[in-house]
Amino acid sequence: MTLIQTDRTKLKRLPKRGHFDRETVYGILDEGFICHVGFAPEGRPFVIPTGYARVGDKLYIHGSQASRMLRTLSGGVDACVTVTIIDGLVLARSAFHHSMNYRSVIIFGRATIVEEREEKMKALLALSEHIIRGRWAEVREPTENEMILTTVLSVPLIEASAKIRTGPPLDDEEDYAMNVWAGVIPLKLEAGEPIKDPRLPDGIEVPDYARYYSR
Ligand SMILES: Cc1cc2nc3c(=O)[nH]c(=O)nc-3n(C[C@H](O)[C@H](O)[C@H](O)COP(=O)(O)OP(=O)(O)OC[C@H]3O[C@@H](n4cnc5c(N)ncnc54)[C@H](O)[C@@H]3O)c2cc1C
Repeated sequence: MTLIQTDRTKLKRLPKRGHFDRETVYGILDEGFICHVGFAPEGRPFVIPTGYARVGDKLYIHGSQASRMLRTLSGGVDACVTVTIIDGLVLARSAFHHSMNYRSVIIFGRATIVEEREEKMKALLALSEHIIRGRWAEVREPTENEMILTTVLSVPLIEASAKIRTGPPLDDEEDYAMNVWAGVIPLKLEAGEPIKDPRLPDGIEVPDYARYYSR
């Protein structure tokens, strides 16, 4: 199903790079796990980085009950959430045509607070599983008090767009004859060797989801 295009999500620059089908938008959301949440209470803009997870047509974010971001957003202000995945640096023959290969999503909407206990727990599980699959089943679940101290917000995935750039540089025709290297430096997020907690008792093995972590 395709997302509805609005005056806010209609791409003006390079519209051919725009995508409005849920499959593409959700594919990007499911690969990333950090978003930047923008909001402007009383005309003062803030952009805050935070983790997220998608479940169906909702994006969940969570944090401390004391968080200004979460308190402000739960008041029903307009928000803009962006997710960016960087795939490569594009080196052109001219400084002007250098670019990046990327996949990004921008969502507009108003967040609502998730009050219902079952949905809140499902959202927390989704956040955990989205970032480290397999972890939730091994750790202690949140207590009632920890649930109260945690705010979960849901942003509806109704007004959203994706923009994607792929492929080699696009140089001016006369520059292709230049004697300068051009192409793409692929970039990806890579996990390092897990580092154990100094207080970890001996004999606890690194779980596979940590040893072989990848996205
Ligand atoms: C990769 C990543 C993942 C995160 N995941 C979560 C999450 O899942 N849940 C969550 O609640 N928080 C998360 N955070 C922290 C989040 O960015 C905020 O710091 C936090 O939510 C508190 O928000 P606040 O509006 O209450 O900040 P406040 O403490 O009210 O902010 C006051 C001021 O502190 C500074 N500030 C606040 N946060 C940052 C920051 N991240 N970097 C630099 N300066 C800052 C800014 O100047 C801001 O105006 C994450 C941060 C990063 C970088």
